Amino acid sequence: MRETVEFRISEQKAQRFLKPRDGKPLGRSTRKLVLDTNDIRYALVGRIEHEFMKQGSSFFTYWDIRRTYTKKELDSAELFYLRMRSAFEPEGEQCGTQYDESVACPHCSVGARQLNELRLDPSSLPRGKDITRTIAYSEIIVSARLVEALRAHGITGTRFHPVLRKNGGGTLDAWCQLEVTSQPLGVAPATRFGVSPFDPDEQGEYRCPLGHVAGLDILSELSVRREDWDGADLCAAKQWLGYRSRNGGAFRPYPMLLVSQKLRRLLGELKAKGFELEVAHLV
Ligand SMILES: [Zn+2]
Repeated sequence: MRETVEFRISEQKAQRFLKPRDGKPLGRSTRKLVLDTNDIRYALVGRIEHEFMKQGSSFFTYWDIRRTYTKKELDSAELFYLRMRSAFEPEGEQCGTQYDESVACPHCSVGARQLNELRLDPSSLPRGKDITRTIAYSEIIVSARLVEALRAHGITGTRFHPVLRKNGGGTLDAWCQLEVTSQPLGVAPATRFGVSPFDPDEQGEYRCPLGHVAGLDILSELSVRREDWDGADLCAAKQWLGYRSRNGGAFRPYPMLLVSQKLRRLLGELKAKGFELEVAHLV
């Protein structure tokens, strides 16, 4: 496995702390720096970031972890974390989907019960994707072509529901809402969560005290408990990611999906889009 992190840093800060050859300009005011986590400069960025964090600020404005694997590593894995790379708004509630919030967790909002079919604005849906989600409410939708293939290949752990046009304007034929029906997989302690690669959220600001949300983001590969896996091809981890925005924002936590080797191969054959797969570990 090779792990790299892309950082985006304001050119002003980059000139102060980095060498001119470190990274590439992204427009006039930003430097893009992609580092292997074994690179000595990765530790340097970490030390700089800790200094900025003490002042309540950050050295970089954006970060993104990518992991690449050898064919052997991919072929021998049992489960993969499906990292969704596509999200859109507005969420279902703004389009006529109703929720019972009285059963949701008061800390993190996980557990709100959907009362009717998912309704969405057709013009907001991303093109060329097969799996995507709304930023709020963790409504995950799957393209009709992928749903058809999953059914034809007997993929287990899922149920699909129709998606309606906003405010009751008929069915959206190109998409279905995903319901994960398999047993949730408990996240194992080897998994690291946090706010950024150098900020493990020691205060637990983004962890639900009742355990529904593990953190703002996942920083390591995902490890889950083998004893929880019922063998389904599509599963979700018991603990979710993200946060519930206060003051009227629309962010809510979302689940981490896992797929079997069988489903990974099928997604590859179909050239399905909207996500990346990383090896997940069963412990
Ligand atoms: Zn909670």
